[in-house]
Amino acid sequence: MTINSKANARDSLQVVLANPRGFCAGVVRAVETVERALARYGPPVYVRHEIVHNGRVVEELRAKGAIFVEEVSSIPPGAVTVLSAHGVPRTAVVAADARGLAVIDATCPLVAKVHAEGRRFAAQGLEVVLIGHHDHPEVVSTRGQIEGVVHVVQDLEEAARFVPADPTRLGYITQTTLSVDDVRAIVALLRSRFPAILGPAGDDICYASQNRQSAVRALAARVQLVIVIGAANSSNSNRLREIAAECGTPSLLIPDANGLDRARVDELRSIGVTAGASAPEVLVKELLDRLASWRRLAVATLDGPQETVRFNLPRAIA
Ligand code: SF4
Repeated sequence: MTINSKANARDSLQVVLANPRGFCAGVVRAVETVERALARYGPPVYVRHEIVHNGRVVEELRAKGAIFVEEVSSIPPGAVTVLSAHGVPRTAVVAADARGLAVIDATCPLVAKVHAEGRRFAAQGLEVVLIGHHDHPEVVSTRGQIEGVVHVVQDLEEAARFVPADPTRLGYITQTTLSVDDVRAIVALLRSRFPAILGPAGDDICYASQNRQSAVRALAARVQLVIVIGAANSSNSNRLREIAAECGTPSLLIPDANGLDRARVDELRSIGVTAGASAPEVLVKELLDRLASWRRLAVATLDGPQETVRFNLPRAIA
């Protein structure tokens, strides 16, 4: 039900929560990996890059003794080191070996699967088309895991103008957190230009991204404003905000409750709330608390699929 008329301050605010939302199995695994490493080896534990793209998660782990660095060269020789859920290029693995680091690899298994697909295409002598955002750490890691030619294609425009050495020897893979619709359009264009292009057997967009995208579409159809809780550098969170906007519903991406202005919701009767795959549920609770300090709330949760995906911890820390 969409309610279009303006509310006054005495009206209750209907808050609809997306389902599913928040942490995915890869993020749960990565965070638990750092916590276990801290418990087993004691601080400091070094983490290459933010373990997941969320400031609250990073701050909490930092308070427990994790040290986040961008380059392996910043880590003291021999230190316990966790690689982030986004994965790392081969050069970082080699550099870690050279420094004698005790490496625990928290790369999400679904990202590692894309790495393997890309390597398989390259081993067949194909040029690899990696659909994804140029500077995102997952794309940097995937590109750096493939020995061979990799073309990163970010959007339809780049897909239209990219020129391979051999148009008949191509394979594509994708970043795991892209919009399903965007990827479908880019793949269709690539297939029309290069009919022989090979692709993954299934879909590289991970289950968590797909489920959260479906949920935000359902949410956008019911409310006047969609609020996505997630970091500005979180790919999947940005896609959720964009998808809500594409559905015709105003949408906001905020890192936490403090990112919301009261004026934004004062005249609304309904809002939807979701959270990116790296945003902990406590951030949703804090947002509800902030809203409740302004307005009387009527909170409901959408029906949605129950996620049962769980990943084993990395062997080095299990
Ligand atoms: Fe893995 Fe998907 Fe979560 Fe990324 S969003 S960590 S690919 S499950």
